Amino acid sequence: MNKKEKIKFIFDYLIKLFPNPKTELNYYSPFQLMIAVILSAQTTDKQVNKVTDKLFKKINNPLDIVKFWEKELLEQIKSIWLYKWKTKNIFSLSKIMISEDYCLFFNQLKTSKSVYKLFKKYWYYISNDWKELKRLPWIWEKTAKVIVHVLYNVPVIAVDTHVHRISNRLWLVKTKTPLQTSKLLEKNIDNYYKQYLHHCMILFWRYYCGARNPKCEECKLKKICNYYKKNKYW
Ligand code: SF4
Repeated sequence: MNKKEKIKFIFDYLIKLFPNPKTELNYYSPFQLMIAVILSAQTTDKQVNKVTDKLFKKINNPLDIVKFWEKELLEQIKSIWLYKWKTKNIFSLSKIMISEDYCLFFNQLKTSKSVYKLFKKYWYYISNDWKELKRLPWIWEKTAKVIVHVLYNVPVIAVDTHVHRISNRLWLVKTKTPLQTSKLLEKNIDNYYKQYLHHCMILFWRYYCGARNPKCEECKLKKICNYYKKNKYW
């Protein structure tokens, strides 16, 4: 099986397993998605949804956060890992997003009063270009890619530790860090598969290929899986 056939074999199987892959984070506005993604760093989606179910009844946009004030936000998300750090980041990010300078921040919004009004009307503009979004403080590459992928269906690959681990288990890459994995996957995977890859892999990790006790016996990828060969077969 050459590299192209292998990619096709893996992703056709994953798409069959998860034909309509999407995020399991709950949100009702683009800004809420951004907050949910920030909160989800090193935290399960389930835990984030538990917190945001209540939080998002009060928060729709960055202005709500600034009005809501920092202490209450801290209180609301304290069951989340790194909640103090995340509160600080969300609060500071919101302050930036309600400033007029934020319009200038993105190249495509040559500032004007009418654009600014439009921008406020649509719950604060969130760029569909992950490189633009990454310029915002506390938005890292992976966060930016998840946001544009979920909101605008942009075919980019967001690599977290799970996607990194599965890619190495399947020998799609042989890398040491998620960043190296991200670069190689971006280069080698077609746009068609890119639109499925992130969510399919996250769901595959969640329901089949977890760190402990992956369900290898029922996995159809085992014949090409390096992890399986090393740990179960030989
Ligand atoms: S064989 Fe096991 S380790 Fe390999 S991809 Fe499938 S579930 Fe994951």
